Amino acid sequence: MVLERAGEPLRVAELVDPIPPRGQVLISVHACGVCRTDLHILDGELNEPKLPLVPGHQIVGTVVGGGEGAERFARGRRVGVPWLGWACGECRYCLSGRENLCDRARFTGYDVDGGYTELVVADERFCFPIPDDYSDEQAAPLLCAGVIGYRALRLLGDAERVGFYGFGASAHILCQVAVHQGRRVFAFTREGDGETQAFARRLGAEWAGSSDEQPPEELDGAIVFASVGALMPVALRASAKGARIVSAGIHMSDIPAFPYEILWGERTLGSVANLTRRDGEEFLDLAPRVPVRTETSIYPLAEANRAMEDLRSGAFRGAAVLSAMAPSGDSG
Ligand SMILES: [Zn+2]
Ligand SMILES: [Zn+2]
Repeated sequence: MVLERAGEPLRVAELVDPIPPRGQVLISVHACGVCRTDLHILDGELNEPKLPLVPGHQIVGTVVGGGEGAERFARGRRVGVPWLGWACGECRYCLSGRENLCDRARFTGYDVDGGYTELVVADERFCFPIPDDYSDEQAAPLLCAGVIGYRALRLLGDAERVGFYGFGASAHILCQVAVHQGRRVFAFTREGDGETQAFARRLGAEWAGSSDEQPPEELDGAIVFASVGALMPVALRASAKGARIVSAGIHMSDIPAFPYEILWGERTLGSVANLTRRDGEEFLDLAPRVPVRTETSIYPLAEANRAMEDLRSGAFRGAAVLSAMAPSGDSG
C-alpha cells in the first residue's frame, strides 16, 4: 500500500521486490501495526516523508535474504522492525546513548519504506528478535506503541500515581507494565467512552474517567498519548508537586496558554521522541515477563485505509494490525 501524496488515501500498488543492500536483511512481512504517526503522515502533519512511501513501522516478519555482510539473523528467523531504522553513530546524540535524537536518523515508514507491504528491507543492526511468546499480530504493537510508551513511562521516574490521557494502543500496553511495576494507574478517555474506561479497569487501572474529570487523587506523573495539546494543562491541573507530564506523540495540536501557578511546584512538561535500540531490547525482554497481552483488531493488508480510519474514529480498543494472513472482508 503506497502513499503518493499527503491527504490522499493509500493506493494498492505492485512494487518491485527490494534488493537488500550491504548490512540489510530482506524480510517477508507477516504483520504490521498501525500507529497514530501513520495517520499524521497521511494527513500531512509531518511534512517530510519520502514520497511515494510505503508506511508502517511496527513490522513483524521472517528473514528471507540478506545483503553482503548481513549475518546477524539466520534465514527463517522472526524479527521486528521499529520506527528507528538507522542512526549515524557519530553525532553528539548517538555518542551519548541518545540515538533516538540523532540528527541524521532515518525512520521506517517515513524516510525509508515500511511494512504496509509483503517484502521490506531493513538494517539488521536496528531489528529486534521477537519473543516466542507472541504471535506475529500480537507482537506488532509492541514495537512502537510498546517500546516508545515504555520510554515515556521511564521518563516519569518512580511516579507512583500515573495518569494516561488517551487509552489506545500504547496506553493499553503501558497500563499492564505500570501495574506490574507497582504503580497505580488512572486512565482518561474521551468524554462518555464508558467502554474504553471499562477496558482500562480490566487491564488494572485503579480509576478510569473522562479527561475533563479530576482523578480521586493527585497524579505523580502523566503521559499524554492523545495528540491534543489542550490535555497538557489539563494533566498539570490534575498533578501533584514535582509531577512530570510527558507527551508521547510525534505531533500535537498547540498547547494553550495557562497560568504559571499550575506549573509551579517543580512540575515539568516534556516530550518523548522515538526510541533507542536499548529501549527496544529492554522492553521486549520485559513484555513476556509482565506478561503484556495485546488486544488487536486485525485487518487484511489491502484494507489499510479502513484500519487507519477506524483508528482515527476510535472504532476499536487496543491496537490495529495489518496481517498477511487475514482473509479479505474480515476484521476483529
Ligand atoms: Zn508509531
Ligand atoms: Zn547520530
